[in-house]
Amino acid sequence: MTDLDASIQPIFDEILQRNAGETEFHQAAREVFESLGRVVDRHPQYAEGSVLRRLCEPERQIIFRVPWMDDANRVQINRGFRVEFNSALGPYKGGLRFHPSVTLGTVKFLGFEQTFKNALTGMPIGGGKGGSDFDPKGKSEGEVMRFCQSFMTELYRHIGEYRDVPAGDMGVGGREIGYLFGQYKRITNRFESGVLTGKGVGWGGSRARTEATGYGAVFFTEQMLATRDASFDGARVLVSGSGNVAIYAIEKVHQLGGTVVACSDSSGVVYDPDGIDLALLQDVKEVRRGRLSEYAELRGGSAEYRAGGNIWSLAAETRIDVALPCATQNELNEADAVILAANGVRAVAEGANMPCTPDAVRVFTEASVLFAPGKAANAGGVATSALEMQQNASRDSWSFEHTEARLAEIMVGIHESCATTADEYGEPGNYVLGANISGFTRVADAMLAQGVI
Ligand code: GLU
Repeated sequence: MTDLDASIQPIFDEILQRNAGETEFHQAAREVFESLGRVVDRHPQYAEGSVLRRLCEPERQIIFRVPWMDDANRVQINRGFRVEFNSALGPYKGGLRFHPSVTLGTVKFLGFEQTFKNALTGMPIGGGKGGSDFDPKGKSEGEVMRFCQSFMTELYRHIGEYRDVPAGDMGVGGREIGYLFGQYKRITNRFESGVLTGKGVGWGGSRARTEATGYGAVFFTEQMLATRDASFDGARVLVSGSGNVAIYAIEKVHQLGGTVVACSDSSGVVYDPDGIDLALLQDVKEVRRGRLSEYAELRGGSAEYRAGGNIWSLAAETRIDVALPCATQNELNEADAVILAANGVRAVAEGANMPCTPDAVRVFTEASVLFAPGKAANAGGVATSALEMQQNASRDSWSFEHTEARLAEIMVGIHESCATTADEYGEPGNYVLGANISGFTRVADAMLAQGVI
């Protein structure tokens, strides 16, 4: 761990004390704080305005009961959250995560990251995040719909096109956004397209939004590789996860001439040396809502399923050039990073939010492996959500090509601002530093301009 600057340490101590037990939030805050010492030294106005302390306290935190009836007519109770972190740059914006592990601390870490990520996109969106400890796994269609309707019956009063605009995250995809939007419309009697993003293309959604996070992570990695005269052409790639982010990262890597040889879910890993068959993966995951073990059975040939396996250790068995962790937080630890770095991996980009532990990031940095933090690399999803809001505001609907081109442009812009900022602070190629400082200064400048609120 890097020591914190003397001016920043007391602020971090206060976070630990006021947010006891929220370890993921502590981790996310510390990672940003490690980059900020030099900024505060150079620009004392940030310290004087107590901007950092204000930034670490969400503007509003909502926790609510979500009661619903399961198929056996039993009452079920879940907990719902929405943390409205920062509105300096625009309405609160960020996804909803439905997963049994979700706590207030999880939502706060995600909302904190989201604030900087959204600032990096250069779009007019503040930061927020929400979710529930509801487990969509094994639930019927009817149960998922009733849960979403109950969740929205409380959430609707807090959100709005100009107030707070949720979207999807783990466990919340097109189906859930549909049920949430339907209930919002019914309660408010308004077809307010801009209140949620990730909607179906036929009723206000944006083309390329589904693909955007995965595609964006690959576009960002492409930019990093280019700084070392490398590309995806002929590259062999590991993509952890097999959800929305992973699927479209795989698709874009394949379009760019690379081969993704493995992906994973929470039960195991599929190693498919000929390259993941994307149509089959989509059928298993999105149509059947099945497990990855089914993919290996159906695929046959040299594809192999390793129950409980570790995807990153494949780098010790076969040549791997790029690793894209697209599953969940803290899925890639120091030991995994050592295997990747020692076996010649050139670039790692976080498709998920905070998938690499701080020790893993240190290993990559010390070994000069190109490393892109999630708030930069996975910002394409929320950036395209902002494009969806633009289309909704102008009652327009853009083509796939136009939207994808805008996304690519935004990712190039984020790469550029991270790289330039890292250069300015004398650490060329340090994307963690570049992303944290660049995101922070945009939010902090707006907060200073808007006064103590
Ligand atoms: N959940 C996504 C993220 O982590 C997308 C959020 C959004 O589109 O609002 O950035």
